[in-house]
Amino acid sequence: MYDSIVIGCGFAGAVVARELAEKKKKQVLVIDSRPHIGGNCYDRKDEYGILIHQYGPHIFHTNSERVHRYLSRFTEWYSFRHEVVGKIGGRELPIPFNLNTLEMVYGERAPELEKKLISSFGEGARVPILELMNHPDDELQEIAQYVYENIFLKYTMKQWGKSPKEIDPAVSGRVPVLLSRDNRYFQDRFQGIPLHGYTKIFEKMLEHDGIDIRLNCQGTDVLRLDPEGDVKVWFEGHPFHGDVIFTGALDEFFGCCYGRLPYRSLDFHFEHYEKPFYQSHAVVNYTVSEEFTRITEFKYLSGQLDMEDTTIVKEYPKAYSGSEGEIPYYAINNSENDALFEKYKALVDQIPGFYLLGRLAEYKYYNIDAIVERALDLAERV
Ligand code: UDP
Repeated sequence: MYDSIVIGCGFAGAVVARELAEKKKKQVLVIDSRPHIGGNCYDRKDEYGILIHQYGPHIFHTNSERVHRYLSRFTEWYSFRHEVVGKIGGRELPIPFNLNTLEMVYGERAPELEKKLISSFGEGARVPILELMNHPDDELQEIAQYVYENIFLKYTMKQWGKSPKEIDPAVSGRVPVLLSRDNRYFQDRFQGIPLHGYTKIFEKMLEHDGIDIRLNCQGTDVLRLDPEGDVKVWFEGHPFHGDVIFTGALDEFFGCCYGRLPYRSLDFHFEHYEKPFYQSHAVVNYTVSEEFTRITEFKYLSGQLDMEDTTIVKEYPKAYSGSEGEIPYYAINNSENDALFEKYKALVDQIPGFYLLGRLAEYKYYNIDAIVERALDLAERV
């Protein structure tokens, strides 16, 4: 009955499903364990009418014409310029740390320091904090130490339960020291929020005669794998010879037979206030205080600036334990965990037509645009 089964209905699953149905004329079944489509990008209006991102802030940004053009088939955009500040010593400083932040922190010394930074790394450079810390110059090391202690250390301890020196350097490298006066969080050519929200994109993308959706359904409810057997994939008790695109957590699909793959999870605490604004920016990072990492005020993201009240969310990171209702958000990449992932991956590598896609299934830290691009590429290959 189905040519392809897609497990998971976030951007990875939805884009592949649409492409397979539309371009390859396949009959596609998309299943998701949650009661809604959209994965972690799911947004909805709360009881006060404010569009909230139920699983934390998602700000789309890309340099890829292809990805932007593709998503623009399903949405118009609210052109949103994302700037983040950190609450540091009673002040709000621009993050990433840039030349404006330098001036606010170092005052009269800033011009000299700026010259030194630029002559070492070049104007406009994006310098990972761990790289700046290795610079031999004393003054540059002083800056690096300031940035490390005031922007990275406590935030990263909260987010990952480890210091920036103990985690994959690519993670802190996502927020480099920026040798420019650009206060934007992302420097990509295109950035914005879907004008009518993310969920609407998914509704449109999945609205196709070739696509059926089943919600509240686990991968293991419908699929059984038998890597050793003649028939490798069983769908609802029958042999299945079509494609399977799997976007969930691979360890859980195999009953964690080699042990759990570690992920970080988050608790989201939503609060509503009867005042027009709670904070100065859409996202304020708490880099030296508090137990939460950041507060997002949604009306900035949705453009509902005229609303008389406001909804915020605080993010409390924690280890993922796999208990009911908990969600794995971030892979914890290191050599040990990556090796464990490879063991699970080897189980499915033997299965023709079985593809892994996305943050969970590939155990990688992807942004939305990277996932969309990979999904488009995969759909071409299938
Ligand atoms: N980070 C930090 N302080 C900040 C912002 C980021 O220490 O103010 C570090 C932290 O380790 C975080 C990583 O940089 O996990 C990547 O940040 P990003 O904003 O990209 O995280 P995401 O929005 O994907 O959770």
